[in-house]
Amino acid sequence: MSIRMKLLTRILIATAAILGPFSGIFAADTGGDTPAPSPAHAQGARAGDRKLFDETYQFIFFATLEGLYRDGVSSADVDSLLATKGKDGGYLNFIYTCPICMPVEGAIVTYKLRPRIDHMKVQNFQTTERTFGFGLPKEVSDALRSEKASIRLKAVNELVSKWISYRMDHSGLTDSQKKDLIEELGKRRKEGMNALRSFAANMNGPNSMNAFAAGYEGGDECAVCNAALQMPLKLKSP
Ligand SMILES: [Zn+2]
Repeated sequence: MSIRMKLLTRILIATAAILGPFSGIFAADTGGDTPAPSPAHAQGARAGDRKLFDETYQFIFFATLEGLYRDGVSSADVDSLLATKGKDGGYLNFIYTCPICMPVEGAIVTYKLRPRIDHMKVQNFQTTERTFGFGLPKEVSDALRSEKASIRLKAVNELVSKWISYRMDHSGLTDSQKKDLIEELGKRRKEGMNALRSFAANMNGPNSMNAFAAGYEGGDECAVCNAALQMPLKLKSP
């Protein structure tokens, strides 16, 4: 092999070594007919992600977000809904990991970060930061602020119940699809109840109620889960 050929071979090897690690990126960017191969774990993660935010999750999330907008819930009432027990405690109105509480909580957090509707001069926006509606009735706002769990959770139950019921009626779902959805909500309510029971039994650490179901110390039902199934709340606590 001539010196010239040897040099050319070295250059080709060096170029391949440099491009090697990036070849996957280039392949993914080409947009051609052949999709870039993705590792098995990434495919698994995508399937898992889809499961996290499935149709039922989205139904609950959007029912809540829509309800908040339609009622024009003020920022003060949003803060009441998202209140926690002291600095280190968990939510007063939600049970952590509950598959019905979490999408409701997620929608309220999303609404909390809502941008101002700037093409409309919404009266009193500056003081109430409300949206489409005129805010919650005063007795509901007061109930959401109540230190008594029975009063507060009853208000949460009725509010979420109304939002879910509206979405169910306006969803365009057939009777059979509604039946399936209600059945799925029932399954998730059971999961929420099981989570509450495991926290109450301190199966997740000695302080698990305070961290994961802080507002439910006296209760054996979830205000939000019951709401999803149009069930009123029965609490043992006063
Ligand atoms: Zn729940």
